[in-house]
Amino acid sequence: MEPELQALMRYFPYESLRREQRKVMLAAYRAMAEGRDALIEAASGVGKTIAVLTAAMPFVEDGHRVVYLTRTHAEIDKVVEEVARMAELGHPVRAVMVRGKSGLCLNPLASGLPPGLLDEFCSLAKSVGMCSLSAAGTRLAPFNFTSRELVEACREARACPYEVLMSHLAEGDVVVMTYNYLVDGELRERVLRPAMSADKAPIVVMDEAHNVQELLHSADSVKVSLADVRRAVEVLRAELPRARLTRALASLARSLARAASLLSSGRTSVPLSVSAPLESLEAARSALAEAARARLPEGPAAVRPLLHLRSILRLLERSVREGHAVVLSREGGELRMEAFNPNPLRLRGAVRRRRALVAMSATLSSVEFYSEILGARDPIVKRVPSPYVRNAAFLIYTGLDTSFKSRGDELYESVVELISDVDAHLPSGHSMVVFVPSAEFLSELLVRGLVYRVGRAVLVNPPPGELGENVVLVSVLGGRLSEGVDLRVSLCLIVGVPYARPDYKVMAVMREYSSVFPGRARRYAYVLPAVRRAIQASGRLLRGPRDRGVVVFADRRYLRLLRYFPRWLAAHVRAVRRREELLKAVALFPYGSPRWPP
Ligand code: SF4
Repeated sequence: MEPELQALMRYFPYESLRREQRKVMLAAYRAMAEGRDALIEAASGVGKTIAVLTAAMPFVEDGHRVVYLTRTHAEIDKVVEEVARMAELGHPVRAVMVRGKSGLCLNPLASGLPPGLLDEFCSLAKSVGMCSLSAAGTRLAPFNFTSRELVEACREARACPYEVLMSHLAEGDVVVMTYNYLVDGELRERVLRPAMSADKAPIVVMDEAHNVQELLHSADSVKVSLADVRRAVEVLRAELPRARLTRALASLARSLARAASLLSSGRTSVPLSVSAPLESLEAARSALAEAARARLPEGPAAVRPLLHLRSILRLLERSVREGHAVVLSREGGELRMEAFNPNPLRLRGAVRRRRALVAMSATLSSVEFYSEILGARDPIVKRVPSPYVRNAAFLIYTGLDTSFKSRGDELYESVVELISDVDAHLPSGHSMVVFVPSAEFLSELLVRGLVYRVGRAVLVNPPPGELGENVVLVSVLGGRLSEGVDLRVSLCLIVGVPYARPDYKVMAVMREYSSVFPGRARRYAYVLPAVRRAIQASGRLLRGPRDRGVVVFADRRYLRLLRYFPRWLAAHVRAVRRREELLKAVALFPYGSPRWPP
């Protein structure tokens, strides 16, 4: 065993260290020791989190802080649990999480409010004395607490969990937060920068770092409810009938409604031009605060539209101030307003002062791209294959082409038949998941009777907690089932390549990438995000040593895209041209026993 590894093993809280974990640990350790960065492409199930945390421990003991960025709150809890395991071995390491008020706020008046309105609600409630909770007067130290443990402890101590976390931010050895705190300029200044400003330069870990590309263009976003906006304008109209302010807000409500109707005619995103000067946006926001203050005693429903419009105005103000475009898009059934910045290099300076940056993901191809957008310094590049790769068959089915020009009755009909055939050949008791390129594509399959033409029960976009035995799950590539969840399926059928429709945002990004990455814009802005979504979805199958099954990339274009697959995966993919060949492979694979119940 290498001497560094031997020294690190005293921090490692598990009995056995896998070969792949060892590679991740050593690459991360080397970067931290040499003051360089590391880009680590390692498959799902390797155990990257604990490997990197273990590598960082000697530096933590030397006074460096780890700032750990994740995609979701659930992942934050996992990091905290791993740190707690190391602490149980007797190492004095303290993790503190940073998260927004959603899931933490204990004020009963806030229940039922959407997460995006909690900041607005909190400052309103405090300004009128309707929340007495804070961090003052409590000795509660939230180190190595998961969210649930923190909320329970705060409930007992009659303290605000959010404020307790914020008041201990500077004391954590490992500070864990989501990417929001990196991409949102305001949160970055308020939270990430103080977390990064310890005496010794921090180590920054970006987990599931492939998310950075999708997130970096969105500087801030809010969900938009047109009904709420109209209601808020009515409230103001009743109070300030002739004020210029009310007219300005009414005109904003009309622009939103116009943009929303453009979206319902098939576009996925449209720019929103806001001509109001900054001062009138600010004045409108304070008028709304006044109105909300007067109504809060009537309950949260009375203030919700006002808070909602305030959150929209806050985004608009920031866009004017920071020079971002404002875009309205449709996501599922909802409208989303976004402060949009197509510059791919805008985050390069965000974590400039660091000892090392470790970016890791199952899909970090192309590493040159990530290296450029993160401003990686002399990076160590490490590729680590899945330890379970031999437990699966990876097939590209070339008998299908789902490109936009091929879409029509015939194609959708043949996709329904394909799903039905694969279902019929998968041994009974096993479940499968089908991913399709978009919500529109999914609707086309549903109107052709997909649910009735498949032998197993079909669950369309079920919440991850409601999966089951012997079922067919159907979801969209890039949707909630395609990343970070264990679906316990034995077959993963990926239909089509999820290229984005060339809408306003895609075209703006392409233009910007053309000037920043001449000759590589299409690949970076358009091709790689699509391949990444497909690879992430394929990772739902092999999550642990017991998993076995078949992954099918059903579209002949994947043959050309193989060069963008992680190398370990590309080396194991086999092309099948005929439907019978595919179905035979599905029927004869040695699946073992079904993965459900867990
Ligand atoms: S202080 Fe804490 S508990 Fe009170 S409203 Fe704000 S977030 Fe909620």
